[in-house]
Amino acid sequence: MTRRIAFSCNGHLTDRLMPIRFFNTYSRRIEDFVPLEPGVVRLYTCGPTVYNFAHIGNFRAYIFEDLLQRHLEFRGFRVIRVMNLTDVDDKTIRGCRAAGIPLAEFTQPFKKAFFEDLDALRIKRAEHFPEATAADHIARMISMISTLVEKGHAYRADDGSVYFRIRSFPAYGQLAHIVLDELQAGVRVRSDEYEKENVGDFALWKAWDQADGDVWWESPWGRGRPGWHIECSAMATGILGPQIDIHCGGEDNIFPHHEAEIAQSECVTGLQFSRYWLHCKHLQVEGTKMAKSAGNFFTLRDLTMEKGWTGREVRYALLSVKYREPLNFTIEGLSAARSALARLDEWTRRIRELANTAKLADALNISELEQFGSSLDDDLNISAALASVFDVIRETNRRIDLGKVTPEEAKGLVEWLEGVQSVLALDPEAEVIPQAVHSLVELRSQARASKDWKASDSLRDQIQALGWTVKDSKDGQKLTRK
Ligand code: AMP
Ligand code: ZN
Repeated sequence: MTRRIAFSCNGHLTDRLMPIRFFNTYSRRIEDFVPLEPGVVRLYTCGPTVYNFAHIGNFRAYIFEDLLQRHLEFRGFRVIRVMNLTDVDDKTIRGCRAAGIPLAEFTQPFKKAFFEDLDALRIKRAEHFPEATAADHIARMISMISTLVEKGHAYRADDGSVYFRIRSFPAYGQLAHIVLDELQAGVRVRSDEYEKENVGDFALWKAWDQADGDVWWESPWGRGRPGWHIECSAMATGILGPQIDIHCGGEDNIFPHHEAEIAQSECVTGLQFSRYWLHCKHLQVEGTKMAKSAGNFFTLRDLTMEKGWTGREVRYALLSVKYREPLNFTIEGLSAARSALARLDEWTRRIRELANTAKLADALNISELEQFGSSLDDDLNISAALASVFDVIRETNRRIDLGKVTPEEAKGLVEWLEGVQSVLALDPEAEVIPQAVHSLVELRSQARASKDWKASDSLRDQIQALGWTVKDSKDGQKLTRK
């Protein structure tokens, strides 16, 4: 088979026979990616439950989804992405009750912190961030549940809760590759679920009880609140339409969350809900999943505000291992990210400087330049993509040392790098100085104003230890990455 690939100068694919391929959890196979509507990708990504700060395990999932979106855009697709905010569920209700404040007041600071963290990690904003408690989404959830009851896929229990009847959907279990009978044998019956026909049936609507306090909505089945799974089905189909191209999440979402989403959505619409299902492996700490419940987690703030790492460094550490490979979180991993970024930054500085005098960019003929995009076409193989970037860096550094890279070639490399950085988002220009470093610089400026040179030197050392160099100029202190 002939393989024809043509690149424009910034690395975008302009004419291509090689397909983009993803591992589809549903089929457990690598498949060619073909969206329903040519040139457009409808992407749904499960978002955070806003009862606490997101931990960096969550951000492994969001960064993998960011890479997916950015790469599809790099390949010329328009990506319509939705990321929901789960702002009502058992955990958010428990949290607001414990704090003694209304639900919306309790979740608000965590929503705000989430968006700040997205920015610090350079995660591109989705087009839509629907909140489960918004009136139009609650209305859609109720309407979907009503349809499911009418069609016999759901039933109301005596307490007013509504359950999905998994026996009514023969494909239930196919995403997770679970056989229904095994499921029943394996599931422990919880005492509060005795009203279900089948232990595997899941709640679409949860009847109000005292633990819910003032969190409830009216429904045809009485006061209550939606189940977590129907929230995502309603927001996905409500915004993106009955069929979407790609649905993502971490691997813990496969069952029961995504399995339930498929059952609910397809029983309402009669159409295939999502064509591709992509899941990232969990971020681990010493061999176990990083999770709030396990208490072994870091938030982004722990790393940036207290330990002085930058969002860019955390991004690199979480991005640089392929989403389906295990990733163990370590401080050594962050140090390696820092060194890799220093090499990339130094090379960027060199080629930009060389390119300064060039009017035109050479059309480059370096095979590694193509490998960046084609590696990502291959199920987002980021390790291979980054390896090709560092091959280009090594080879061109060698030639720059020999005076063999012309300004025109350097300009060609600068343009290629722009394409690469539209996907990686690791450009040094946008470096964010961590809050911990800011605070030390502020203290140092007070120490210098009061001529306390000993304190000033000690603060300089502390700033150094966080990876930054401070220099004193007539305009004040200047910070650079060490
Ligand atoms: P949650 O807020 O628990 O609903 O999780 C939000 C997203 O983060 C979901 O897509 C989860 O699958 C994902 N997630 C949770 N823990 C981890 C982890 N340790 N590694 C990767 N993704 C995770
Ligand atoms: Zn979801």
